[in-house]
Amino acid sequence: MQERNTVRSILAKTTTYLEQKGVDSPKLSAQLLLAKILGVERLDLFLDPQRPIIEAELNTLRPLVARRGKGEPVAYLLGEREFYGRPFSVSSSVLVPRPETEHLIEEALKRIPAETGCRFIDLGTGSGILAVTAALEYPNATGLAVDICPDALAQARMNAQQYGVDGRISFQEADFVDLKTEYGNFDIVFSNPPYIGEADYQTLSHEVTAFEPRKALIGGINGVELPLRVIDEAEKLLKPGGWLFLEMGMDQGKTISDYLTEQTTFDSIEIVRDLAGLDRVGVARKKN
Ligand code: GLN
Repeated sequence: MQERNTVRSILAKTTTYLEQKGVDSPKLSAQLLLAKILGVERLDLFLDPQRPIIEAELNTLRPLVARRGKGEPVAYLLGEREFYGRPFSVSSSVLVPRPETEHLIEEALKRIPAETGCRFIDLGTGSGILAVTAALEYPNATGLAVDICPDALAQARMNAQQYGVDGRISFQEADFVDLKTEYGNFDIVFSNPPYIGEADYQTLSHEVTAFEPRKALIGGINGVELPLRVIDEAEKLLKPGGWLFLEMGMDQGKTISDYLTEQTTFDSIEIVRDLAGLDRVGVARKKN
C-alpha cells in the first residue's frame, strides 16, 4: 500500500528534489510553495505536520516545484514578496523586492518625522515598494512614482491600489534620469536604480539573470553610471533641505560619496551599510 502523503513527507520529498536541482534555499522554497497551495502561512505547516495532502493539492504543487527546480524565483511563483512587513504583488516584469532596500525607508524615517506632509519621488519604482511604503509610513505625504517600463508601472499602481494609497501617488512613464518635471518640488528622492556592472552581471546567480528583468539590474558598464545620474537628477528635483536616499552596489560607496561631495550642493552625506556590513545606501541633504 502506498504511504499516505502528509505535510511532513511532501516537504521532505520536495526539499530533496530542489536540493538535487541545486536551487537556492531548497527547504524554504518547498515550505513556501506548499503553504501557498494549502492556503496557509508557512509556520502553520509545522503546527500540523501530519495533515494529509490530497492528490488535487499535489497536482497543483508539482508544476510549481518543477518551475522552482529550473531556478524561477519563489516570489514570481507565489506572485508576491514581503517588503517592510507587507506583502507586495510581483511579476516577472519587476525586480523581486530585496530586504536591503528596506534601509532606504528606515533611513528616511530617522531623519524625517512620519507625520510630515512631504512630497516624495521614487525613481525607477518597479513593483512600487518604495513609493507605496513611503506613502504608508508618511500618511500625510504625496508622491510620484516613475518607471520607464509600462508593465512595472501597472504593477506599482496595483500595489498602490491594494494599500489604498493610489490617491496620493501619481505614476509617470519616463526615463527617470531625465524628467524635466517638478524640479525643486520634492522633499525626498528615493531610488533603487539598476546598479550592477556588465561584468558583474555575468557572475550573478542563474536565478537572477534568467528570470529577473535585465533592465532593472544593469546600471551601465561599471554599474555605478545610473546611480550617479540619479544624484544629478536628485539635485534638480529636491527642494533646499530635501533628502536623497539612494541604493547602491556594495563596492560603490566611495564613488558615490565622492560624487556627492563634489556636487557641493549636498551636505549630511552618509554611506549606510546593510545587515551584511556592505555599503548599501547613500544619504545626502540638499543644502538650504
Ligand atoms: N524600486 C524597485 C525596488 O526597489 C525596483 C528597483 C529596480 O528595478 N532597480 O525593488
